[in-house]
Amino acid sequence: MIEPLFDKLAIVGIGLQGSSIARGARVKGLVRRIAIADTSPDHLERAEALALGDSLHAGADAAVEDADLVILCVPVGACEDVAKLIARDLKPGAIVTDVGSVKGSVVRQMRPHLPGHVHFIPGHPVAGTEYSGPDAGFAELFENRWCILTPDETADPTAIARLTGFWRGLGANVETMTADHHDLVLAITSHVPHLIAYNIVGTAADLEEVTQSEVMKFSAGGFRDFTRIAASDPTMWRDVFLHNKEAVIEVLGRFTEDLIALQRHIRWGEADELFDLFTRTRAIRRGIIGMGQETPAPDFGRRKGS
Ligand code: NAP
Repeated sequence: MIEPLFDKLAIVGIGLQGSSIARGARVKGLVRRIAIADTSPDHLERAEALALGDSLHAGADAAVEDADLVILCVPVGACEDVAKLIARDLKPGAIVTDVGSVKGSVVRQMRPHLPGHVHFIPGHPVAGTEYSGPDAGFAELFENRWCILTPDETADPTAIARLTGFWRGLGANVETMTADHHDLVLAITSHVPHLIAYNIVGTAADLEEVTQSEVMKFSAGGFRDFTRIAASDPTMWRDVFLHNKEAVIEVLGRFTEDLIALQRHIRWGEADELFDLFTRTRAIRRGIIGMGQETPAPDFGRRKGS
């Protein structure tokens, strides 16, 4: 056990992310006390049953009192309301951060409401699953994953170093970049892939010539993998697309052009073009495995028949 990095941690939103942070911080001894706030009485009840925190609060304002580290783990669209609610109760010198999947919008929503005496350092752990709620979290979620911090040029280097230490304590690797660059990178690596999954599963569900039971019965590996992604939380993903509009539309434009090119290769039987693309994409998959961000096990490590 190491000396705790913070005395009191306040987590606002005890879902997949919040409960994983609570579990990890507890297991690794990163903080002395954890206060939890959530608007859902059911989630607070589960947090109590799972012993995720030392105090539970219906209001985020009460949870952040005296906290040295405050982490918003709510859907991106809820950040402004939470910032307004907690602003007056934040302790001078506290670090305020978040885990939202979009960064530019979170900054625009929160910055105007936060007092000048706190350190605001937005963050995004690139780690998740398609499950949500307090039962979905686990202490190892962030291990060997990347956490991106997007401090602006006015941010205090000591506060950045303290927050970096916290994420490293949870097992994550930390990188910093601007909020705008984050939003463009995540549009291509996460947001548009989710949109494609939602779209293809929606198209399959709407196909009139193929029944829904046929779609489920004959779902081959490719389609099944899309359904896993398309099962992700509707509130979270609605907010991601509404709040990262520009970068998603930019990447979707490129995607659409490339899709049309593929359609042309198929129409005209351009075998070499198809083969070359599929060879290049295979190398990307191998690169991800090589960097320890995925398992090489066949079928994503699923057991046979599962
Ligand atoms: P989640 O499991 O649905 O948890 C969110 C929790 O926040 C829920 O308990 C929700 O209650 C509560 N909540 C909503 N509005 C609130 C408010 N105004 N005040 C207090 N609590 C509130 O979601 P999650 O997957 O942990 O995602 C949380 C954040 O992490 C999102 O911003 C998301 O973009 C980001 N993120 C998610 C992933 C992922 O894979 N899931 C990965 C990286 C980052 P209700 O359910 O009753 O609304």
